[in-house]
Parts: sequence; C-alpha cells; structure tokens
Amino acid sequence: MKGVTVLGATGSIGVSTLAVLGQHRDRFRVVALTARADFDALFRQCLEHRPHFAVLVEEAAARRLAELVHASGLTIQVLSGRQALEEVVRLPECDYVMAAVVGAAGLLPTLAAVRAGKRVLLANKESLVMAGRLFIDEVRRYGAELIPIDSEHNAVFQCMPAGGGSGNAPQGVRRILLTASGGPFRGWPQEKLRTVTPAQACAHPNWIMGRKISVDSATMMNKGLEVIEARWLFGTTPERIQVVVHPQSIVHSLVEYADGSVLAQLGNPDMRTPIACGLGWPERLDAGVEPLDLFSIGRLEFEVPDMQSFPCLSLAMAAARAGGNAPIILNAANEVAVQAFLEERLPFIAIAEVVDHVLQSVASLEIDSIEAVLECDRLARMAAAQATAAAAGRAA
Ligand code: NAD
Ligand code: MG
Repeated sequence: MKGVTVLGATGSIGVSTLAVLGQHRDRFRVVALTARADFDALFRQCLEHRPHFAVLVEEAAARRLAELVHASGLTIQVLSGRQALEEVVRLPECDYVMAAVVGAAGLLPTLAAVRAGKRVLLANKESLVMAGRLFIDEVRRYGAELIPIDSEHNAVFQCMPAGGGSGNAPQGVRRILLTASGGPFRGWPQEKLRTVTPAQACAHPNWIMGRKISVDSATMMNKGLEVIEARWLFGTTPERIQVVVHPQSIVHSLVEYADGSVLAQLGNPDMRTPIACGLGWPERLDAGVEPLDLFSIGRLEFEVPDMQSFPCLSLAMAAARAGGNAPIILNAANEVAVQAFLEERLPFIAIAEVVDHVLQSVASLEIDSIEAVLECDRLARMAAAQATAAAAGRAA
C-alpha cells in the first residue's frame, strides 16, 4: 500500500489523479489533499477519498472546510497556510507526492517533497523551469525519484532507457522531439490574434486543462516552458530539443538515438495515462483510458512551429539558451501577463510584449540558491505588473 499526497487536488491534474487512485484503492491510500481556496470541491473529495489531512492555503476557506468536516463526522485534520503544504508531503506515511499546484506557488511544496526523498510525480513544470539545476541537484542529493507527468516528458521518460528522467543523460540519445498540438490558434496569422478572448484561448482542441496552462498552450509559451523542463529532466541542452507541431496530439513525444532509431509514445490525449504511469511505475496500471484506435484517427501530421505568430515560443527558447535567471524571469512575467489576460486587463498579443519587456529590464544573474530564485521571481513580478499596466494603457 502506497500513501499519496495530492498537491492541487481540485485542479485538472488533481481530479484526474484522484480518478486513477479511485480505481486502485487496493494499492494506494490518500494521505493528504490540498488546494488553494475551493473548500466545497475539496470537501467533496474528502468525502470520497477519506484522506488523513486536508489543506487549504487560505485560512478563511480552511475554517469553512473544518466546519463541513466536523458536521459530517469525518476524522480528517484540516490545516491551513502555505507551510502546511510542506508538512503534508513530509509525513512518513506519504510515499508519493503528486505535484499539481499551478505556477510558481508549486516550487516550495514540490521541493519539500524532493527533500523528503519521496517519489515526486511532477506536473508543476514551473518549479523545474524556475529552479533548474538546483532542483535536479536536490533530487540527487536526497535520493528522490522524479517521474514527469507532463504528457510530453512522460512520453520521453517512457522512450528513454531505464534511469532517464532525473537529470541523467542516457547514452546514445541524439535528440528529443517534443510534440505540440499548436493550440486553438494554430495556423492563425498574428493579425487575427489581436481580438482573441480568454474563452477562445481556453478552448483547447485536444486537452481539457486549467486556465493558466490553456492560455500557455494558446501562446505556445507552454512548449517553451516544456523545452526548459526537458533539458533539466533529461540532462540535455536546448539545442538538442526540437519542437514538432503535431495537431492530433496522439504522438506525445519522441527520442532519437545515435543509430537512427526514433522511439515514440502514443496514446489518446488523456492525462490519466501519464498519471497512471507515474503511480504504477515500473508496473502498468489500468488508467480507465479509451484504447487508441489508429483506424479512426487515420492520419498523423507534423509541422514546423510558427515562431512569427507565436513569439512566446522564441522568447522561451532564447531564455532556455541564455540560462541563469532568464527562465525565472520568463516564467514570472508570463504568469503575471496571463493572469491579466484572463482578467481581461491585457490583450492576448501583449502577453509576449510584457514577457519580452521584462526579460530585457531585469538584470541577468547567475542563480546559486533557492532564495535567489524566489527573489528573482519577486523582482520579475514587480516589473511585469508595471509592464502589464503600461501595455494595458496603450491598448485602451
Ligand atoms: P488547475 O488550475 O486546474 O489547478 C491548480 C490547482 O492548484 C488547484 O487545486 C488549486 O487550488 C491549486 N492552487 C492554485 N494556486 C495555488 C497556490 N497559490 N497555492 C497552493 N495551491 C494552489 O491547474 P492544472 O491544469 O491542473 O495544472 C497544474 C499543473 O500541472 C500546472 O503546473 C500545469 O502546467 C501542469 N500540467 C497540467 C496539465 C493538464 O492537463 N491540466 C498537463 C501538463 C502539465
Ligand atoms: Mg505538456
């Protein structure tokens, strides 16, 4: 029996994780469920999965949850605050941690799981984008087991020889081919992107996801973040990672070897597959996913990414090559700009402008500690808030 803590339980990945766990109650026990503020959703999950602990970051929401838990007669300890996220990943009864908080807020609880030497199922790509080498060094130092859940990285993990995925560079790997659906605006010219709304940007053709990553997919910033994520996970350089647009989202990524072999992982676009892979590894579990029907799919297409219409991808590739604090600035500025776009304070095409501006305005630095990562994130957010207000003013 493995104990599992789910960080970000009420989100898209969290819900899919609980669906897989619910199918395998004989193998897994839910130790803790966490979320930011949605006490209703977390309470419903508590009723179904009976964790020992439930955490809400926001205190008032945690009080409401505690009342609901008390009235229902459940014996669940309700905690609040960011610190509590770190406490519930360190518990001795917790073996696996699903890291599915969205954004930079995921960094510290994910690192806490790494430092506690747990099996970490990494959905929160932002933590690896921000902390990069420092994160991977901690994985090694504390003997944690890192399994990528992002569908592309999980695909690469499956196509690598054993041991690939915790920062090791397996022998004979020439390139990683990272597939991208191209998002809802694939094939659109820049001009047409001017009037895009949050609802359009969040309507992904193949995947149902949280709002932040949906916008990142629409700008293709998501693929840029994933290039940075992949370089650290698989001990390679951005130059050896090729983004391939594949509109069907059936081939989740590929690994090219020195002898010319190219291995791919295929499946329906359903996050329960990589989640079940991470939970069961090296065993395979039923994920409840429809079998892949190649005859009904018929064709698989591959295209070169359009860097003109999707400048966020080139900004991210440049930040990947620059290293140092550039990925932290990129990520922070993007989070601020995406939030402003979702709140209809910033036009879609200005997301790239804000990120570009902040990358140029914050001094470049080498980063040697997690404290320096957090400080750089803070400074970049301040610069991004200013740049967002200025860009919104120009657009009005
Ligand atoms: P989501 O917005 O649906 O859910 C986010 C979860 O994190 C919620 O439970 C929310 O309560 C919690 N949360 C939000 N802010 C928080 C904070 N400040 N502190 C603590 N908890 C907080 O997001 P999602 O789509 O499930 O994505 C989660 C992560 O997984 C992201 O990093 C995303 O890039 C990655 N990911 C998601 C998908 C997908 O299919 N959704 C695929 C690949 C990778
Ligand atoms: Mg992905």
